[in-house]
Amino acid sequence: MEGIEAVIDPVSCLVETALDAENKPEPGCEVLHSDDHTHVADDSQTSVIVSFLTKDGAISQEQLDYARRVHAKLTSRRSLLSVIKELNFITTEKLRETLKRNLVSLRIGTLLVELGYLSEEDIKAALAIQHSAPVKKRLGDVLVEANFISEQKLVETLAFQLGFPHIEPNLSEMDRSLLPRGHIRNFKQHNFVPVAREDGHVTVVFGDPTDQRDIEAAQQLLGKNLVPAIASRRAIAELLAGYERSFLEVKGPAPAEDSAVAIVNQILEEAMIENASDIHIEPFRDRQRVRFRRDGVLVHHKYINPELANSMVSRLKVMAAADISERMRHQDGRFLYEDLKTGRSADVRASFFITIFGEKVVLRILTKHQQVLSLKDIGMTSKMLDRFTVDALDMPSGVILITGPTGSGKTTTLYSCVAYLNDVNTSIITAEEPVEYVVDGISQCAINPKIGRTFEETLRHMVRQDPDVIILGEIRDKYSADTAIQAALTGHKILSTFHTEDSIGGLLRLLNMDIEAFLISSTVVSVLAQRLIRRICPHCAVDYTPTPGELRRIGYSQHDIIGATFKIGEGCRSCRYTGYKGRVGAFELLILNESVKDAILSKKTSYEIRRLSVQSSGLVTLLEDGLAKAATGQALLHDVIRLLPRLMKPRPIQEIRRLSGEE
Ligand SMILES: [Zn+2]
Repeated sequence: MEGIEAVIDPVSCLVETALDAENKPEPGCEVLHSDDHTHVADDSQTSVIVSFLTKDGAISQEQLDYARRVHAKLTSRRSLLSVIKELNFITTEKLRETLKRNLVSLRIGTLLVELGYLSEEDIKAALAIQHSAPVKKRLGDVLVEANFISEQKLVETLAFQLGFPHIEPNLSEMDRSLLPRGHIRNFKQHNFVPVAREDGHVTVVFGDPTDQRDIEAAQQLLGKNLVPAIASRRAIAELLAGYERSFLEVKGPAPAEDSAVAIVNQILEEAMIENASDIHIEPFRDRQRVRFRRDGVLVHHKYINPELANSMVSRLKVMAAADISERMRHQDGRFLYEDLKTGRSADVRASFFITIFGEKVVLRILTKHQQVLSLKDIGMTSKMLDRFTVDALDMPSGVILITGPTGSGKTTTLYSCVAYLNDVNTSIITAEEPVEYVVDGISQCAINPKIGRTFEETLRHMVRQDPDVIILGEIRDKYSADTAIQAALTGHKILSTFHTEDSIGGLLRLLNMDIEAFLISSTVVSVLAQRLIRRICPHCAVDYTPTPGELRRIGYSQHDIIGATFKIGEGCRSCRYTGYKGRVGAFELLILNESVKDAILSKKTSYEIRRLSVQSSGLVTLLEDGLAKAATGQALLHDVIRLLPRLMKPRPIQEIRRLSGEE
């Protein structure tokens, strides 16, 4: 490229700079303004080709001066070259010779203007289009795409004026050995195809045989002995596409397209940057939507080209080790994604679900860099934290359950408990599916039923590992519940999560699994229920006055909210104008004291057990804990009312805060 520029005639340099933006002006060009050739630049009708003709001696200086005088008197805008041709100072053959000899210095725009096919205004307009295009295009392509000249006309012009043979390549008639697959990218980039080999010469068709870079690229691949010919760019592109297709048909299904790989990686990177927990890739009739779950809420991310849907899904299936040929059944899988740019990695669980418009993919992202939060930082009030550690985690044995629906943050809390219990004198062993956080100093087992490492099998073996603390990722059936209770009966401490609405519900669910009430009352130490609520952005929070309707829904009067400061986020840059930033936990801690155990043994109703817990064990309900967070401006009152179960009338704010030790 640098070498080519150096060859350019100084005279043409200025003109071409004006005409063809593919050439960045070389420093040398600027100097020309002050030398003898300055008038050349000022005269817009001065011809680069004419300067070649005089240099080659094809026309004399007298002829040129005469032609200039004629040209100056013309009222129509014709090129100097056409005047010279009209005066019969040169023949078409002579012009053709000159053009071919000086091809290195010619640009397609210059040529078309000087031959009278396009005006300089046309070229300037095309250059403006070329500049504003997001992707760099050749001027020839812009001229054709923007209809300044038809492709056919362009090819004919170049073929006629430059004397290149015009060959429309045809895959079935050409020498395919000239098309090694590894060179396809070069062919595409430089717009050429070799079509025949004869007597040591290779005939190559070019979209623009005036482009020296393309010529040089072809020479590098095919040797110096080229016979250049011209073809329409469309014909070249179609031939290469057809050739690639034929290759794929022979070799079977294509590996995932570059573009699909790039888009999948981009989405994963964006999700990690935005701290999304899940990615939803959803097919619809005419579009493919990507949404992220951030802070528990699904938000629109972008639309992607639906034509890429299949290759994207295939790419994700390859990554997740799912069956890419299976498109009729739901599937799942997982993979480790490493973002090379940021060095972050994530364990990704993938689910492929068949919908009427194709496969919907949901990716759950478990980032490994996530820090395990200290128990102090998960959002418990001081009094609750105190009771949870003293009356539950510090007990020598027993079952501690953390309950809540999916996405309630119970796994985060479970790991905070592990971090609290983890010390050099304690053996902690886990059975998880999957391992969401890696904690130093404990033995974590990832359940994988596909290879026979089932939950049941793992539970049988872990009690033989002499553990002090056993962590079960989740209790989901009677077998795992029985195992937990048996382990507790033999003096172990068991922590697990459970999928129930509230703390009392956890006890009832165990009873409904046909586990004896006396086993529950003698092993379960505590049940912690929790939810995550969006936290109000601290940067744009302003005071908020609850509506009468909101107060009515929780059975409050104005008197009940004395001492409360409700807030709402107005939206700012820091929170992307959502008014929220991060999440805050709401908790309900049930400690099984004697009266609660008695209530279980005597099969009291959940209402009774709840009333007893509130009266005797200082239980603050989920709703009450949430209201306390709303009353201190951490969470929106509306969200608290909407998200937390209302099983009994909450006590006044001031009383809740006293119970929570916050007063
Ligand atoms: Zn904000």
